[in-house]
Amino acid sequence: MRHFAVVGSGPAGFYTAEALGKAYGEQARIDIIDRYPVPYGLIRFGVAPDHQSLKAVSKRYDKVAESPGVDFIGNVTVGRDVAVEELLELYDGVILAIGAPHDRKLGIPGEDLPGVVGSAEFVGWYNGHPDFADLNPPLDGTHAAVIGNGNVALDCARILSKTRAEFDGSDIVGHALEALDGAAIRTVTILGRRGPHQIAMTPKELGELGHLEAAAPLVEGADFPPLQADDALEPGQRKSINILREFAATAPDVSKPKRMIFDFFARPVAIEGDGKAERIIVERTELDESGAARGTGETYEVPASLVISAIGYSSPHIDGVPYDERGGKFRNEGGRIADRLYAVGWARRGPTGTIGTNRPDGYEVAELVAAEMPVGSSSDRRGAEGLKQLLEQRGVMATDYDDWRKIEETEAGRARPGSPREKFVRAEDWLAALGR
Ligand code: NAP
Repeated sequence: MRHFAVVGSGPAGFYTAEALGKAYGEQARIDIIDRYPVPYGLIRFGVAPDHQSLKAVSKRYDKVAESPGVDFIGNVTVGRDVAVEELLELYDGVILAIGAPHDRKLGIPGEDLPGVVGSAEFVGWYNGHPDFADLNPPLDGTHAAVIGNGNVALDCARILSKTRAEFDGSDIVGHALEALDGAAIRTVTILGRRGPHQIAMTPKELGELGHLEAAAPLVEGADFPPLQADDALEPGQRKSINILREFAATAPDVSKPKRMIFDFFARPVAIEGDGKAERIIVERTELDESGAARGTGETYEVPASLVISAIGYSSPHIDGVPYDERGGKFRNEGGRIADRLYAVGWARRGPTGTIGTNRPDGYEVAELVAAEMPVGSSSDRRGAEGLKQLLEQRGVMATDYDDWRKIEETEAGRARPGSPREKFVRAEDWLAALGR
């Protein structure tokens, strides 16, 4: 028998557990540990609430959690309640699948002003992440800006621009829905430090902006290279650029009161305001020979009382685990950090790719584990039994998969009209739902 601890219950964690389960069958017990009493990580706290079809992948993860040999152990923070070294004593292999929940810093003056928030904070706020329930982003101004040209920037801009009715069927939390419904925002500027060809936005997500009830995208035709330059793009990117070109060619619908302005070749150099964010100072850029943004020296102001920086994420440090500061992830080779210690998903490769990218990633790391600890081999490590004993001694109230199902049922029972559920946003509420 082998015992494995997968730390983190997002896509990377579940795909790895699934792969380990397939590889070892009855020869292994797999514990999926999470700092929250509820599973799914990015699916619950990161994926946009109006993208329910993406969230449906958690049904597959349920099957993994329900399979024999796999357990969910929630409400346990590795690095605080239990150290990685302790897990390595108890388990044959420890796989860190903790994602990249921290915002990267802009590194410009004014980024700590009230009104400037990272996308992890903003996304966490509308998705019911307990750390950001009290964010209260300022929505009383008419101008907001999102920095970055990736899919997260699109998520943030879209959520800011939707009407209340457009959240029907979503699982956006009530506090965010109410606040957004009362927002005064009319203009959302999306700042990209490079040009249309360099966006990291996928066609489906970009296309949605063309069909919003009250907001219209605005793109400047002069920002594009000549049409024939699109031939060199890979097909997905070409599709995205086509959508942008269509936006540029279409006069914005004047019946829609909100605008989403794509401002390309625009690098924020400072955020200014009287005790809070009021404007971004932006430098016009051009592409240098290597394709990087080079400042032209020309600057201008973009008004914004809410600034969301959506420029990428990093994984948190964990005591004793080597870290790659530049990559914002654990130092690893092909998923291997050290003897019997591994990383998967964003903790392994940095915050890139879609949910599905984590599947081959998890299977690859499971293969590596199985190569180092062949199926049929065994050890006398104690796994969950030892972990539970340790947690009990430390007064840590761990939750299991049945607890999660009770929480889920309670959330579903509190659903407001038009929403599949009203999520709990505080750890105390989760535990209260369990009568603890
Ligand atoms: P991303 O795709 O890496 O985009 C980050 C953006 O920030 C890039 O446009 C980058 O520009 C810009 N940026 C970085 N540093 C900057 C700086 N200092 N100043 C100004 N701009 C800066 O990251 P993401 O949007 O956070 O997304 C993370 C991953 O999740 C991606 O793989 C994404 O596709 C995925 N995701 C998918 C979905 C979906 O499928 N629906 C939804 C959300 C996220 P440069 O290119 O110039 O560096």
